Amino acid sequence: MAERKVRVRFAPSPTGALHIGGVRTALYNYLFARQHGGDMIFRIEDTDSNRFVPGAEEYILESFKWLGIHFDEGVSFGGEYGPYRQSERREIYKKYVKVLLDNGKAYIAFDTPEELDAKRAEIANFQYDASTRGMMRNSLTLSKEEVDALIAEGKQYVVRFKIEPNEDVHVDDLIRGEVIINSSILDDKVLYKSADELPTYHLANIVDDHLMEVSHVIRGEEWLPSAPLHVLLYRAFGWEDTMPAFAHLPLLLKPEGNGKLSKRDGDRLGFPVFPLEWHDPKTGEVSSGYRESGYLPEAVINFLALLGWNPGNDQEVMSMDELIGLFDLHRCSKSGAKFDYKKGIWFNHQYIQQKSNEEIAELFVPVLKEHGIEVPFEKVVTVMGMMKDRVSFVRELWDVCSFFFVAPVEYDEKTVKKRWKEDSAKCMTELAEVLAGIEDFSIEGQEKIVMDWIAEKGYHTGNIMNAFRLTLVGEGKGPHMFDISWVLGKEETLARIKRAVEILK
Ligand code: GLU
Repeated sequence: MAERKVRVRFAPSPTGALHIGGVRTALYNYLFARQHGGDMIFRIEDTDSNRFVPGAEEYILESFKWLGIHFDEGVSFGGEYGPYRQSERREIYKKYVKVLLDNGKAYIAFDTPEELDAKRAEIANFQYDASTRGMMRNSLTLSKEEVDALIAEGKQYVVRFKIEPNEDVHVDDLIRGEVIINSSILDDKVLYKSADELPTYHLANIVDDHLMEVSHVIRGEEWLPSAPLHVLLYRAFGWEDTMPAFAHLPLLLKPEGNGKLSKRDGDRLGFPVFPLEWHDPKTGEVSSGYRESGYLPEAVINFLALLGWNPGNDQEVMSMDELIGLFDLHRCSKSGAKFDYKKGIWFNHQYIQQKSNEEIAELFVPVLKEHGIEVPFEKVVTVMGMMKDRVSFVRELWDVCSFFFVAPVEYDEKTVKKRWKEDSAKCMTELAEVLAGIEDFSIEGQEKIVMDWIAEKGYHTGNIMNAFRLTLVGEGKGPHMFDISWVLGKEETLARIKRAVEILK
């Protein structure tokens, strides 16, 4: 068979916020498509109108925009294979339902919900399949005239897939290898419902993957049980030669590793499970998102890329381009991946360090504004350079560096007790005089003169520096002392010393 062009799709149902596991699925599809120079399709699977949630589609699109995952075609992107929203493809599905009916691969069933319930009560473990379909009300048991009459009367019906029993169905999975199941365990799945004139997920999914020339179906493990049915559908249509390759990704597990990751784990341990903040239109509930929680999109991408895949060595920090180069479906694990959210925080720290001081300053300016502070951008840049290695989130920078922007109004009691000695007021007054006389107020310029002064006076360096820190910062934290006084400038430094001396005496 000739090499096919790689075409993958991400096909969410717009039933709410996009779960972080869905983001990982989309990411793996994206990495695979980019690596092979292929196309990435965005398809909306909205054939279940009961589960439609307004705003979900927009939310999903905005999430990928933020994360830097780009689609080549699909809903909102256009393309040659549209429409890409399944609710706009009814006529197409009807045509293919008819193909299956005409070929005897599917049949019409009139059983009402009550009749099905009655059968379930009568027969233990009832399943609509080769062993039971002969006792049901369908086009296999009724005459053609009866069927036509029922349809003409407007009776509701479904179309079911006629699964031949006792056949081994092989699913070749790029991650799991060959999975074989016996067709007898499958039921005659409903493919179409006359009530809303819409296909079910299975039919629409297969028809679209075929028509959109999808080459690889990369999706979550929860879809693995549907794969044998999908293989049989491709066969029923005579499409086995262009059947996509399957890859079912490992489950995301709770941080502790026991069971599937859920939103409740996020609430319990305090991490988001959605890319963006989500406002549930029905309940009004607001759920936190990675973006609003201060994660950088690069960090989220890098973190997710390693949940179920690794590059074969211990490299951890990888850009999107590096991931595109290294990604390999064969290196995806079969077993579930623990959602180690602390690793996500670690990645955020790494990416903050990688960003330039200017970029971090851009992100920090709004935080300063919130505190009513407007200072020259250059000053923010300088402070970021000194302080960013101490934080994992930009908003944490306020706590570690606010003293650069606002003078202390009070002095930490413990630090005062420990660091403010009997002669501190006198020494600080002298220090202020020394600093006032310094012309070159650079870090080195101050350091040299102050150190000489300490030596000449025979003072204890630690005592002087600790008291000096207390006057400028209000407590015992912060970077190198002369970094602080240099950023504050001579005037502000002197003012702070003076005020501390007045208050602390
Ligand atoms: N609509 C399905 C979902 O919501 C798509 C599953 C698939 O990729 O086949 O995930």
